[in-house]
Amino acid sequence: MANIGQLLTLRPASAKAGPRRGTDLKELGTIKDAAVLCMEGTIVSVGTTRDALRDAWLKRNRSKVTEIDCSGNVVVPGFVDSHTHPVFMAPRLVDFEQRIEGASYEAIAAAGGGIRSSLEAVRKASKTALAAKIAAVLLEMSAHGTTTVEAKSGYGLTIESELKSLEAIRDASSGWPGTVVATLLGAHVVPKEFDGRSQNYVEIVCNDMIPRVARRKLAQFVDVFCDTGAFSPEETSKIFEAAETHGLSVRAHMGQLSETVLSPFFRFQPASFDHMDHVGEADIAQLAKRDTVATLVPGANYFLGLKQYPDARRMIEAGVPVALATDYNPGTSPTISMPMAMSLACTHMKMSPAEAVAASTINGAWALRVADRKGSIEPGKDADLAVFSAKDYREIPYWFGANHCATTVLNGVVASHS
Ligand SMILES: [Zn+2]
Repeated sequence: MANIGQLLTLRPASAKAGPRRGTDLKELGTIKDAAVLCMEGTIVSVGTTRDALRDAWLKRNRSKVTEIDCSGNVVVPGFVDSHTHPVFMAPRLVDFEQRIEGASYEAIAAAGGGIRSSLEAVRKASKTALAAKIAAVLLEMSAHGTTTVEAKSGYGLTIESELKSLEAIRDASSGWPGTVVATLLGAHVVPKEFDGRSQNYVEIVCNDMIPRVARRKLAQFVDVFCDTGAFSPEETSKIFEAAETHGLSVRAHMGQLSETVLSPFFRFQPASFDHMDHVGEADIAQLAKRDTVATLVPGANYFLGLKQYPDARRMIEAGVPVALATDYNPGTSPTISMPMAMSLACTHMKMSPAEAVAASTINGAWALRVADRKGSIEPGKDADLAVFSAKDYREIPYWFGANHCATTVLNGVVASHS
């Protein structure tokens, strides 16, 4: 790739290891008039176009190289969307309309809407039908610059349908050149057949779902929706313990509807806590000392029509590593667009465009524990890049609601969209 007007490498901003925090979050490692050489899915060299043209190896092998002329445009590391729920069959249009008429999240759930209303269709669907839905979404995501996606199950909530959902994720990802990290979200909500006996359902998650998923290597992570109306902190700890026993890492939906004290969970070394609309001072101070990433998903706040957004500034200033993700799901955030999440982060959470870029790339990679391969443009890392039809990276969150991604490179595979 040559003639890159602005290349945002996101190479390390300082000698500090771990996810970006504080002022390091806005260090983009920009190179002007840049070029990137990739070979067999790996980045080999990064520098100026002038230096690349002088390179002896490149001079000899130029005819063998596929050259992408970026025409002075912006290139960023492929986005890492570290929180998505793509395994569902249909949009939730009734919920959408009821919410506009004033119904709350809890009222919609109580009336049979919400997460539970997606269950029936997923339970009935064939694995092939689910995989086709996921595959279409992955394609759409890469057309918007995303190259790594975390994909959760969680709309089946029986052993069979959760396994089917994870198999569908695996099947869909095998046909997509990007990278998918799968997460078991068997603890999304207590299914209605377990009303009043959530502990029985938690036992199924711990004793059946997690061991089977781990044995078949269908997921790297176990996620829990820990909140009022979902799973309690005690139940969450139990599920985390089962995950740990079976060698799976953990992450959780935390603080979306109400505050949960985080300290009991740190011993499980969660990769990330997601949403984080409600979080206390003591926990912010703890997170500032740890590598657990706070993954903010402003698309959900936007789509629910909330006035309040997570307090990103308070977290960033305290030194908490933050990431951004779409939270793509049919109920509360039906967007696949990382640029849209970035735009919302800038306008509603007062993150700078630079912070939004780092939160959507290198810190997303940390939140998925793939930062050794993803999230920055450096020699040795996977060839995951996105070209935007823009001269300045700030245009990415600026032109909200339209897609300006022209080309995406996923593990070295080039996909052009224009
Ligand atoms: Zn979610």
